[in-house]
Amino acid sequence: MIEERGRDTISSITNEVRQVPHLLGLLKKEPPLPEQPAMGFFTDTSLCIGCKACEVACKQWNQLPATTPDWTGTSYDNTKQLGATTWRHVQFIEQIGRRKPSETQAAAPVSKLPELDLFQSSVAQDVIPATPPGTALPFFSSDRWLMQSDVCKHCANAPCQEACPTGAIIRTEFDTVYVQQDICNGCGYCVVACPFGVIARDSGGDGQAHKCTLCYDRLKDGMTPACAKACPTNSIQFGEVATLKQHARERVGELQKHGVDSARLYGADDQILEGGLNSFFLLLDEPETYNLPANPSRPSTHVLPTSLGTIIAAVLMGLMSIFFFKKE
Ligand code: SF4
Ligand code: SF4
Ligand code: SF4
Repeated sequence: MIEERGRDTISSITNEVRQVPHLLGLLKKEPPLPEQPAMGFFTDTSLCIGCKACEVACKQWNQLPATTPDWTGTSYDNTKQLGATTWRHVQFIEQIGRRKPSETQAAAPVSKLPELDLFQSSVAQDVIPATPPGTALPFFSSDRWLMQSDVCKHCANAPCQEACPTGAIIRTEFDTVYVQQDICNGCGYCVVACPFGVIARDSGGDGQAHKCTLCYDRLKDGMTPACAKACPTNSIQFGEVATLKQHARERVGELQKHGVDSARLYGADDQILEGGLNSFFLLLDEPETYNLPANPSRPSTHVLPTSLGTIIAAVLMGLMSIFFFKKE
């Protein structure tokens, strides 16, 4: 009987010892995923027609609930803004009455108008006036709608990631910024750190922070993000960031050659947030017109000066109180 019990104990110990390599294996750190080129978006707003196919495709692929349409009274765009359940938002920037018709002709002389043969020859022959009244055609009228499909910028130095205290926000192997929903505790630090108002807490749902994933699940399977796939005009171009930047510079040059002097890139160089944006834009006006800050800053850059200021103020107050107490 005692012998049998001894044998049982020895065999159970042997079994546990056999498990040790397996358990140690679980503790091992997984090797890093193979390096990939940085992937991102070049959004060419000069090609956007405001169809919102990208917005819908994003909702559909990510199974995000639709927001109740709400008449803003200020725009035909009633999505209003990016949010926890709206990861793509097409802005309609309606610029009506920018210049009075009388000023339009002076401000846009024929030589500055787009160099389209049909247009130039018609104006030269006085077939059509440079500014026919009541026309909505962009070449003749100063009124315009700017369209921009806004999204997370997947910043090279992402303030949201710097601010996250739990490590829920990571960079993926595609150099995109991704929120791990099982780690996010909904503290909201990332929300205030993002200078573009992109990431938001789903206060009516799980309370966690959400934003565009750059379709990480699709990228893993070698697929194009849903929004870029749905865009009918190629306004949203997806690819390697370095190639996209090259293409974007060529596109700006092309537009400027054809008289669109206001065409410019936003986030394609390293100036924005000291590293640039992996999702950058071609704009037709000042960044502020598109609700984009001209010089956004990373909150972390303010920590040192602010801390020094606080320390100096504390020392001064300490010295002053010693001085006054001594006097009394
Ligand atoms: S745009 Fe905002 S949410 Fe997106 S990576 Fe940059 S800081 Fe984060
Ligand atoms: S990349 Fe994917 S998650 Fe991001 S906006 Fe496009 S469809 Fe939505
Ligand atoms: S980006 Fe493309 S899909 Fe989105 S609104 Fe503009 S044209 Fe339509």
